[in-house]
Amino acid sequence: MIYNPAEIQRALELILPQVQKPGRYTGGEFNQVVKDWGETDLKVALVFPDLYELGMSNLGLAILYDVLNQRPDVLAERAYAPWSDMESRMRSSGIPLYSLETMHPLSSFDLIGFSLPYETLYTNTINLLDLSGIPVFSSKRTPEHPLIIAGGHATYNPEPMAPFIDAFVIGEGEEIILEIIDALKIWKDQGKSRRELLLSLSSIWGIYIPALYKPNYGQDGVFTGIDVLEEKAPRQIVKRITAKLPPPTTRFIVPYIDTVHSRVPVEIMRGCTRGCRFCQAGMITRPVRERPVEEIITAISQALDKTGFEEVGLLSLSSSDYTDILQLVQEVSKRFADRHLSISLPSLRIESFSVELMDALKDARRSGFTLAPEAATERMREIINKPVSDQQLLDTCREIFNRGWHNIKLYFMIGHPAETMEDVKAIARLCMDVLQVGKQIIGGRAQVTAGVSTFVPKPHTPFQWVACDTVDQIYAKQRYLKAALRGKGLKLNWNSPEDTMLEAWLSRGDRRLADVIHEAWRMGAKFDAWKEHFNFQIWIQAFEKAGLDPSFYTHRERPIDESFPWDHISTTVRKKFLTEDYLWSLHGKTRVDCRERCFACGILPTFADLRRENPGDVWQCPEVKTRKITVRDLEILDLESLPVIAKSSS
Ligand code: SF4
Repeated sequence: MIYNPAEIQRALELILPQVQKPGRYTGGEFNQVVKDWGETDLKVALVFPDLYELGMSNLGLAILYDVLNQRPDVLAERAYAPWSDMESRMRSSGIPLYSLETMHPLSSFDLIGFSLPYETLYTNTINLLDLSGIPVFSSKRTPEHPLIIAGGHATYNPEPMAPFIDAFVIGEGEEIILEIIDALKIWKDQGKSRRELLLSLSSIWGIYIPALYKPNYGQDGVFTGIDVLEEKAPRQIVKRITAKLPPPTTRFIVPYIDTVHSRVPVEIMRGCTRGCRFCQAGMITRPVRERPVEEIITAISQALDKTGFEEVGLLSLSSSDYTDILQLVQEVSKRFADRHLSISLPSLRIESFSVELMDALKDARRSGFTLAPEAATERMREIINKPVSDQQLLDTCREIFNRGWHNIKLYFMIGHPAETMEDVKAIARLCMDVLQVGKQIIGGRAQVTAGVSTFVPKPHTPFQWVACDTVDQIYAKQRYLKAALRGKGLKLNWNSPEDTMLEAWLSRGDRRLADVIHEAWRMGAKFDAWKEHFNFQIWIQAFEKAGLDPSFYTHRERPIDESFPWDHISTTVRKKFLTEDYLWSLHGKTRVDCRERCFACGILPTFADLRRENPGDVWQCPEVKTRKITVRDLEILDLESLPVIAKSSS
């Protein structure tokens, strides 16, 4: 294998003319940061294990790239998964995975950080380690190898990837990444063993070191709990949060080739208080924290100046829930009126206010308006805690057509708990009703696009106990929808049932699933999220080889008291709360937005100090009241703990 950047560069010159989109592999984009390799103490490679076009739109990695490169003692560079044509040429020419900034092989970095926002990136992650010449199993790595870390929403159940990753970052990365860097620098100076490094990392809030834990299973194969192998390692790994969001990143790399989004992404708010029961993101990103309007405007202005982008995405899980959303949208439209800026505002609630918001954006293109009712009957929407009436939905759609949009995209899921065929048929009926509304207003130009995905019960949600639909059940429901949603003005998009199965196995798996992932990769699985690559049969064979039953992970309704392989990962939303919410769902009982009424999900007891230190509207959770310390408290308190108590109550 070649390890010298100059030789890698020379070898690339020979193979790049032979591959599709060589611009994916050259680096050199505007705003990339290139530091002096020899003069910088610690080298970090940030890897998105999918194509460049997707990875370049990943906001999490862009933030870490910026945060790390602001430190003079650290350099951060990027790498993405090469498409199969490039990979085969790299392997035959002995080119390892290299960084785009300086063409250094990934094995020469101190730290490699993988972003894992979704589970279908797992085989690519192993593949990229292998392409880098780094042992894919953590246990086989020596102090000469980089530290391999991974973070992102998929890692809230880290167990299926446990043998491959040295340390998982559970939660938000902006602050913890700097603490990892500090620990790594100290370890490098001390020249201690790799085990010592892992032990020191385990004491950082939000770090999970799988090698320090051993899962157990009963005779029936059900996970029964996890042993902590080192006294110093925490029993529960509490997710990391950034108490107050720092000002947004504004220096984005401008790609030379088309990527998924060519825009300035600005996260206006983190977390969601709606409590949709199927939504993992809504549960794991609590509490809601908002950025001030002025800070967002300043960031947009700086980012536009630095990038020349002509589009801004005001991002969050539920943008119309941002407290000052109307003011923000009006300000952005006013301040950047001369720049012909296109503004995207994803994830809007189903209400006329959302239509007013979109109208305020003055986007002349009016391409399509997206709403996500997720279910088509009021009964089902109560089960999933997205209570909207059919009338409300139709009124909002009327408003949308009235204001000039022609195409409404409606997102639904099939396979929700307690779903009947009537709920599926209602999807088709509702789409036709919406189309009818459109036709009354704009005639034959009206269009309705239904996007129907299949529900996967995700860890850390109130639905984590329920079973998935089988492939046959999904096919039957999709057959009905394909037949019913035909004709002018109607369009249906859906996912293949096999894709859904893979997502479900990987997201609900335990540590034994690592054997399946490894075996599938050995048999050629990679780019599993891509139609052209995904091979369902490979996965079935990998399950067979590993001696595991795929349906055990997907089609088994789990008893309410079952331990989950992810129970030692704490999102701080208590399992008791999730259990109660699941039971409520079975009775169609809903919860209002928890800004209106706190349901004591568990966030506040864990983060009471952080909440106290960030009073007012920074968090949307209620303030934590401070109780005066009484003489009685002092009598029962351990003197050692007094300074801490004094700090908390100041
Ligand atoms: S603590 Fe209360 S307000 Fe905060 S996220 Fe949980 S339920 Fe919502």
